[in-house]
Amino acid sequence: MSRLDLLSLLPDELEALARRLGADPYRGRQLAAWLFKKGVYDPQAMSNLPKEFRVRLGEEAFVGVPEVERVTRSQDGSQKVVFRLADGARVQSVLMPDRDRLTLCLSTQVGCGFACAFCFTGTMGLERNLTAGEIVGQLAAVRQTLEPEARVTHLVFMGMGEPLANYDATVKAVRLLTHPDAFGYSPRRITVSTVGLVSGIKKLAKENLKVNLAISLHATTDEVRERLMPVNRSWSLEDLLAACRRFPLPVRQRMTFEYVLLDGVNDSPEDAILLTRLLKGIRAKVNVIPFNDWEGSGFRRPPLQRILGFQATLQEHGITATVRWSKGEDIGAACGQLKELQIAQGLLER
Ligand code: SF4
Repeated sequence: MSRLDLLSLLPDELEALARRLGADPYRGRQLAAWLFKKGVYDPQAMSNLPKEFRVRLGEEAFVGVPEVERVTRSQDGSQKVVFRLADGARVQSVLMPDRDRLTLCLSTQVGCGFACAFCFTGTMGLERNLTAGEIVGQLAAVRQTLEPEARVTHLVFMGMGEPLANYDATVKAVRLLTHPDAFGYSPRRITVSTVGLVSGIKKLAKENLKVNLAISLHATTDEVRERLMPVNRSWSLEDLLAACRRFPLPVRQRMTFEYVLLDGVNDSPEDAILLTRLLKGIRAKVNVIPFNDWEGSGFRRPPLQRILGFQATLQEHGITATVRWSKGEDIGAACGQLKELQIAQGLLER
């Protein structure tokens, strides 16, 4: 039998494991406290666990905290962290400070199979899914690199890969992050981003996770969206927005729509007006993201005036719109900028 990754187990599952290994079930809770609260990952260092149980844990389980291979600091304060997973595959996170917040952007897949035209990750294809333990392991690893008083306050599933294409691991990771006896984050501090997988959005609607949802929209017509995002051939804008309208948003929460502005492609005043119409009936806010240039992309960032004009039109129509100047441009950690180790949307949520 393959060894279990303790980081992928919820507190109840750790209790069941303790029982199976011949220990009292409450030892599972103690184990959870070491892993998730104290950030201790070596069973031999968990001093209140009986020696016999620690030995059995060593035989049957491991703690899959990815190795931090490299940290690159940007002038704007953000940090790109490259992780090496157990099989040698690499993913990365971006850590973004903003006033009293510290947001960590998590990856859910090695590579991505959705091939969005403006995104570097899309050029590498999908290598494999991450496990739930590998997803939360990025947080566990980053915590070890922080100053004692620093704490990651917000988590966004916006790194490498499409979270809803790795549905079960993503949902399990959210449960680990929000369980009071695991990482204990409020779901309001977690955002799951999707390219618009309607089947996944419908399934997620039934999970009652109460997390924020961010939709990568990026176009106002099916024709342009299909060109930018092949996923639109499977689910049209109409299908996507219908699923968004039915998504059970917690009170006072709004759905985020990401819109990468590409010069001459989707940035006209007519696009802005169309966008306001598309979002009618949805408690929405829009993140307007000026494109981050990368060599060979074939796209350009629009001039500043057009970016601000696009935002102003949305606001005039009563839609909260924020221009997101992606963090970490100088270290290649910004949205759509990297190749083999790329973060799709290194964005700060407000
Ligand atoms: S934008 Fe997201 S879904 Fe599209 S190719 Fe990049 S990582 Fe994949």
